[in-house]
Amino acid sequence: MLELKDVKGVGPKSLSLLNKLNIYTVEDLVTHYPFRYDILQRSDLSLVEDGDKIVIDGKVESVPILMHFKAGLNKMNFRLVTNSGVVGVSIFNRAFLKKQLLVGTGITVIGKLDKLKNVITASDIKLSTLSNKVKIEPVYHSTSGLSNKSLSTYINMALLVCGKDIPDYIPSYYMEKYGFLNKKTALNIIHNPSTSEKLKEVKVRLKYEELFAFMFKINYLREQNKKEKNGLKREIDREKLNKFIETIPFKLTNDQNKAIEEILNDLEAPSRMNRLLQGDVGSGKTIVAFIAMVANSLCGYQSALMAPTEILAMQHFINLEKLLKKTKIKVALLTGSTSKKEKQEIYDGLKNGNINMIIGTHALIQDEVSYHNLGLVITDEQHRFGVHQRANLQNKGVKPDVLYMSATPIPRTYALTIFGDMDVSTIKEKPKGRQKIDTFVKKNSEIKDVLEMMYEELKNKHQIYVIAPLIEENENSDMTNVYKLKNQMELAFRGHANIDIVHGKMASGAKDIIMNKFKDGDVQILISTTVVEVGVDVPNATTMVIFDADRFGLSTLHQLRGRVGRGSSKSKCILISDSDTERLKIMENEDDGFVISEEDFKLRGHGDLFGTRQSGDMSFKIASIKSDYKILLQAKKDSKEYLLNKETDSDELKAKLIASITEG
Ligand code: ADP
Ligand code: MG
Repeated sequence: MLELKDVKGVGPKSLSLLNKLNIYTVEDLVTHYPFRYDILQRSDLSLVEDGDKIVIDGKVESVPILMHFKAGLNKMNFRLVTNSGVVGVSIFNRAFLKKQLLVGTGITVIGKLDKLKNVITASDIKLSTLSNKVKIEPVYHSTSGLSNKSLSTYINMALLVCGKDIPDYIPSYYMEKYGFLNKKTALNIIHNPSTSEKLKEVKVRLKYEELFAFMFKINYLREQNKKEKNGLKREIDREKLNKFIETIPFKLTNDQNKAIEEILNDLEAPSRMNRLLQGDVGSGKTIVAFIAMVANSLCGYQSALMAPTEILAMQHFINLEKLLKKTKIKVALLTGSTSKKEKQEIYDGLKNGNINMIIGTHALIQDEVSYHNLGLVITDEQHRFGVHQRANLQNKGVKPDVLYMSATPIPRTYALTIFGDMDVSTIKEKPKGRQKIDTFVKKNSEIKDVLEMMYEELKNKHQIYVIAPLIEENENSDMTNVYKLKNQMELAFRGHANIDIVHGKMASGAKDIIMNKFKDGDVQILISTTVVEVGVDVPNATTMVIFDADRFGLSTLHQLRGRVGRGSSKSKCILISDSDTERLKIMENEDDGFVISEEDFKLRGHGDLFGTRQSGDMSFKIASIKSDYKILLQAKKDSKEYLLNKETDSDELKAKLIASITEG
């Protein structure tokens, strides 16, 4: 196996520089793709402006004069005859070219033209005038101390000698079907393209390969999951379940019913459920989860519901307990602030099966917790949990079914890739009677209007959330911070409102005390960072004011806005910002979280949507699920066909692809 250090020119110093770029193997090196190309079109001396980049062919007219400076620096000057006149050329540190730059030699000079002096300061000189009119130069992401040119040289040196060291993940059948070039040729072209057409062609091939390998893994995991017949097989007593559903004080929406049906089918099937339940804020996912838990309980299994915060866990617990009053189902709450004695009782109850349902935070996955027969695990706002934590909880049951709930609607593209190994249920329809939240974008200079609106709400005995991007003063940023805002609000509403603060750096106990005060109406204005984003339900809060709104993604703003409009009163959301108002205006007209997340996705890429989903899942070297969606769909289809084709089971490639899944 060829190692990186064996590549000609790569010494210890360049090796460590390459490592900095996450390049550790020859494969890493040759797949370090250019992030863009400079297209060097030949130009004319008369056509370029002063200081512009120029690429020009010509013949050396005078013997180059070489000058040496201290520290090994050198400079060479000569004259060049071109079709558009004679021009001076100077170039630094290319003394070694002097012997070749004989008078009359045809060359291509790339550099910047100083019109006044009529001199090109060259960055590069190509000795053979290239026959084609356009030169396409790859530009790489690099690190200080490693020039684009050296990087390109190393890559080409590696390409010269590598053979089997570069795996090709496309099965031969598809190579032929699509007439793809072999991997090595494709790599040669992507690093040294001669024409844009050729470049485009190999890009498709390399993207396809990357997406094929990715979708193969997703498909494989999904198939494995389906094959696992040793999941729990249940028979749900629908009649009993319907009796419970009838006790719910509202009528379920069609989408809720559909999601419930999908989940119940999964619970009854012998394979394990691995389902994502997604729906806009306020679409009513929780009741769907509760019904699933009751169904699971009717079959004699325990259920666990994990929430991202104590407040949310508490809220779920209170609601569920109310619904279960007339049943024999016993539910408990376990959080960080549960007393030691109580905790022990809960641990015992979970172990001996006296407790049927448990709601909690991360405390549910601590080592001390063991279950009698855990059959269903649900995580609320799942993107707040690390992948590892979720896996940990699953391991506590024999083969529990798993349901993830997310309020960040996922564009189809994402659902397909990130959650490609899951089934998805979607609630689009909102419960009846929901009012649209009036949304306004305001400038900082209009703060007086904002304060007046707030004052009106306070007069009507309503409560207000105020959001700022920063917690405290920060010398590197002039963004609004929570503490400063509190002072300002206190000045503005002295005697009219109790004002308090919650933020992410507070201890969770302290946070809960204040959240509860707000819930109980003792605090009228709650100033906060985005910690209130998730799930809290305070129906009397009717106004959401967000400072420096341009700092947030639209999906986050939508989540924040979802905190109000939960009661019968008309609610408002005010976005304050002096910049980026075009984007923010989308919020004024749009209240569909799915459309908003699509917009967000278009404008900002995926960064904002899935903060904690392992980024490794999503990092492609050349493909982009945003712009290569068509290739993705094809790769998805092909990789599934390949996976399911028994005749290819003995393929070396198949084994390699499967092995790469367990490696990470
Ligand atoms: P989310 O999907 O954001 O988690 P919740 O489950 O918290 O939303 O539901 C928001 C509110 O809507 C809750 O107060 C819930 O009781 C109520 N709700 C849920 N479904 C319905 C329905 N079909 N009709 C009326 N209200 C509903
Ligand atoms: Mg919720």
